[in-house]
Amino acid sequence: MTTPDPRFCEPGDLLESEGLLRQIRHHLHRNPELSLHEAATAELVATRLTEWGYEVTTQVGGHGVVGTLRAGDGSASVTVRADMDALPIVEESGKPYASAVSGVMHACGHDGHTTMLLGAARQLALTRNFSGTVHLVFQPAEEGEAGALRMIEDGLFERFPCDAIFGMHNQPGVATGTFLFGAGPFMSSSDRALITIRGRGGHAARPQLTVDPVLIAGSLIMALQSVVARNIDPAAIAIVTIGTVHAGVATNVIPESATLGLSIRSFDAAVRDRLQQRITALVSAHVEGYGGSVEIDYERGYPVLVNSAAETEFARQVAEELVGPAQVVSPYGPVTGSEDFAYYLQHRPGCFLRLGNGETSPMVHNASYDFDDANLTLGAAYWTRLVERFLARPAR
Ligand SMILES: [Zn+2]
Ligand SMILES: [Zn+2]
Repeated sequence: MTTPDPRFCEPGDLLESEGLLRQIRHHLHRNPELSLHEAATAELVATRLTEWGYEVTTQVGGHGVVGTLRAGDGSASVTVRADMDALPIVEESGKPYASAVSGVMHACGHDGHTTMLLGAARQLALTRNFSGTVHLVFQPAEEGEAGALRMIEDGLFERFPCDAIFGMHNQPGVATGTFLFGAGPFMSSSDRALITIRGRGGHAARPQLTVDPVLIAGSLIMALQSVVARNIDPAAIAIVTIGTVHAGVATNVIPESATLGLSIRSFDAAVRDRLQQRITALVSAHVEGYGGSVEIDYERGYPVLVNSAAETEFARQVAEELVGPAQVVSPYGPVTGSEDFAYYLQHRPGCFLRLGNGETSPMVHNASYDFDDANLTLGAAYWTRLVERFLARPAR
């Protein structure tokens, strides 16, 4: 184990910020904003960063905020990102600071992510124990609206150049304060397909005069699982989930059409291509075989999130120095969820890590979920130390 260097941030250094961070987190939790509507959250972030001496740029790719701080004469630069948006869920956590906005909830812990990064922002500004440039990115619209891509397309990496980028997500089911790392493909790509099967409707008692789209849909539900079972290398990971099935309104009517909604996940570009090609071919031939016709709307979502090896090892070392090896799991994963942080990693090396939110924590996107406040100062200390360590190294 590496001996902790007293020059770098320790968890205890942030204790003084604990009250403030809880207050910020509870305020954000009570006032959640949906993707693309994070105006008040962005304003809170920008106000704090300005107060702490950051050069602040707002409206980057929507409600995105970037805080920049320079110290010393180092030429290296590093970016740390947090996400800010909430979800369309009616909160049932019963917490005193539960959402005051009906039907909107911080059910993914982005209130905690934003607060941890604000904690680091304050600490870095107070101590300025680094040489170089740090950019703190507060990203909007992570939940399905590709806020990361919006910020990149608004010139994030040209306007705020960096050598590497880091991000973190809380992880229910794992002890609070445990850091999880995985190099290489760490989170899956996420694609969607909407399949509309058209047949010929008619009377339930005269099926011979119809082309039944419900029968075709049923057959297709089973057949689609053969893509993973028989077209993909068993050593690779692939998921085809049929999440929606819609057809019919009456028991005595064979409907005109049926629709299936698919979620498709993988960890490799070739597997991703193969899934799309096989699903498209199988669906077309299958429906045609039954005498129907089909429209396939196949939409590619977030790409595979690939952590670079050197930056992941660096991020792991920082965690081990901070909390000791017993609270670090490496390698961890891969995780079959998706993250738009994947887009950043297509442009810069970096690491997206996960931090345990408690073994009994409800899963993210559950109405009873809540971010564990015990991670606030720890996460803030982690980001502070990571920046100090990264910018203490010789310029690349
Ligand atoms: Zn989420
Ligand atoms: Zn999330």
